[in-house]
Amino acid sequence: MVALKHDGNARAGDTVDSVGESTLSVGSSVKIHGLQSQRGKSFNGKSGTITTELDGETGRHSVRLKGGRVLAVKPANLTLTAAQPAADVKIHCGACERALPTDSYSREQGRLRQSMRRCKDCVASGNQLVLMMKGRARSEEDECPICNLPLPMDENELSLKVCCMKRVCNGCILAARKRGMRDCPFCRTAVPDEASKALAMVQKRVDAGDPVAIYALGDACHWGVHGVARNVTRAVELYERAAELGFKRAHYSLGCLYEEGIDVQKDTVKAIRHFEAAAMCGHVSARFNLGCGERNAKNLSAALQHWIIAAKLGDQHSLSEVKEMFKYGLATKGDYAESLCGYRSAIEEMSSPDRDEANALGHEAIREM
Ligand SMILES: [Zn+2]
Ligand SMILES: [Zn+2]
Ligand SMILES: [Zn+2]
Repeated sequence: MVALKHDGNARAGDTVDSVGESTLSVGSSVKIHGLQSQRGKSFNGKSGTITTELDGETGRHSVRLKGGRVLAVKPANLTLTAAQPAADVKIHCGACERALPTDSYSREQGRLRQSMRRCKDCVASGNQLVLMMKGRARSEEDECPICNLPLPMDENELSLKVCCMKRVCNGCILAARKRGMRDCPFCRTAVPDEASKALAMVQKRVDAGDPVAIYALGDACHWGVHGVARNVTRAVELYERAAELGFKRAHYSLGCLYEEGIDVQKDTVKAIRHFEAAAMCGHVSARFNLGCGERNAKNLSAALQHWIIAAKLGDQHSLSEVKEMFKYGLATKGDYAESLCGYRSAIEEMSSPDRDEANALGHEAIREM
């Protein structure tokens, strides 16, 4: 889990002949120029439309290129190509998902990115953002396929079986071991005794297009484990393939990579987009990170909404944040009570006598049984 930070620093070479900021606004047609970074250079000369007002934090506008790609660009790197905002420009509302003319939004809403933006109708009717409506429950892929309980949040309390690509909770693994079963408790395949055999099993499923396997191989490349050489470029490719297949953990990993900016070029806009995709599928840590991002951008009400959702899915970090906000009068007693109550029942749902026993023994001890 990472806490989001916003990068508001100017980069060397970013400043070229500046146009007056006041001439650039939502709907303006612009051309990009003067970007210096390796990645940025490929966008010089491209045309697009401004979709958000200047972000006070990052000093950038969002620009949608022809073809749909969205970039965050400083005014200094934009040239106005049409004197007036084109009248037919439409931007999407994050609640009703309609594409509406820019004057359907208040100035304040027009500044926000699509997922957080609501049209005047939606503000008036209290229509909630899709981002806050989706992903309020964990999905079936987050259940142990044997006991059917939601999987523990801690990766050390479960195992990924390379034979069937199922994640099985330690409680069920312990129960199987006690009955003398050493093969996969789900599909009964013998557990591979060498890393190379396990890798071959994963590769076979990658070739068949299984997103879980594609993600698992990406993860092995990312960290250089399970007999795979560390190769972040390949990891990103594999994560992207899995993400395109709608695999939420791949979106989350991509979000972390772009947010940290250590192994790939830092890209906060991309990171948020991936965290949003994951959170809308019920990814708990992605939801927590979105809360941190909104807190850092001083959107406390949005931060609180994200954290309440995550706390109710069983995320302890989010519960602590809600508690903290309540302490400082930024959340109501009702917000905190709702979060605490939801958190407790999520934890309750994830518990079983087998799991308690497995936790007391520990991951390593069960493996060696
Ligand atoms: Zn709307
Ligand atoms: Zn289980
Ligand atoms: Zn299996």
